[in-house]
Amino acid sequence: YAAKQHQLGVKVYDAALDMSSDESLSLLSELRTAVDRDQLRLYLQPKISLATGAVLGAEALVRWQHPQRGLVPPGKFIPFAEQTGFIRVLTGWMIERSAMVLRQMNAGAPALKISVNLSTRDLLDQDLPAKMQRLIDTLALNPGSMCLEITESAIMDDPQRALQTLERLHAMGFKLSIDDFGTGYSSLAYLKRLPVDELKIDQSFVFNMERDLDDAKIVRSTIDLAHNLGLNVVAEGIETAKAWKLLQALGCDEAQGYFVAKPMPEALFADWIRDWTAPQVQAVRLDTDFS
Ligand code: C2E
Ligand code: MG
Ligand code: MG
Ligand code: MG
Repeated sequence: YAAKQHQLGVKVYDAALDMSSDESLSLLSELRTAVDRDQLRLYLQPKISLATGAVLGAEALVRWQHPQRGLVPPGKFIPFAEQTGFIRVLTGWMIERSAMVLRQMNAGAPALKISVNLSTRDLLDQDLPAKMQRLIDTLALNPGSMCLEITESAIMDDPQRALQTLERLHAMGFKLSIDDFGTGYSSLAYLKRLPVDELKIDQSFVFNMERDLDDAKIVRSTIDLAHNLGLNVVAEGIETAKAWKLLQALGCDEAQGYFVAKPMPEALFADWIRDWTAPQVQAVRLDTDFS
């Protein structure tokens, strides 16, 4: 059992640390070669407009196709990648692949967006904006079609530096999103100063909103907060028709979750969009189902 001490003295379970040191050492050295051996995979999970049912784009999520271990989920290796600095290579790979997918998908068709996750280390990387500029130039990437997701904790690691980097990326035209909103330690004062376009309500609130009135109220307040600040709001972790309906009734802008689709290999996304039809769910009355 592996636990690491958290800022507030709470022990947080960390799956990546829950292995023998031999195993983690070999994983670590293998990870370094994963890009050269073409073992990273880009998965895409759709983001849908709750108002129209239209596909707006997708979140890019990494997987590691390991020759012995099979498809390894990011929770098992992202923490290692962050500790070792390999995350910068990984992020670069994700952004580049996403830019290539965007170029294919948006050739002619309506403009879809792809969201890519940034880690703390990426935000502290002074060269990140210059690297992003090179991608704009070499891959003809339209920065407005790429959204960068950052968690509150990544920002609060070094808020001054994060703010500088985010301002530069925003000025270049990239969209910015706060991921897992409501679980970190950022303050509303920071939120106001950050050049963000979107809030993603953490899935823990969405999972429980049907059963737990407090979670439902947090979701409702977050939607209102986002809209009052002029931000787009996304709910992730939508697993049921009921959650979809509630979020629609609450005016949430975008939906992401297993109820729509699980993350899929990038090659399947175009066909998935073609086959997609918005769920025909009956409207929910807020005063009876939720208040
Ligand atoms: P995240 O950025 O908050 O991504 C959402 C996660 O929730 C994804 O897990 C997604 O598969 C999962 N999810 C979405 N809808 C549902 C649902 O309805 N039910 C349930 N149970 N889960 C749902 P995944 O792909 O395992 O990624 C986990 C985390 O790993 C991500 O959380 C993100 O923090 C990190 N991650 C993934 N890819 C990357 C990457 O390329 N770079 C970085 N820095 N982090 C990444
Ligand atoms: Mg994310
Ligand atoms: Mg999230
Ligand atoms: Mg998360």
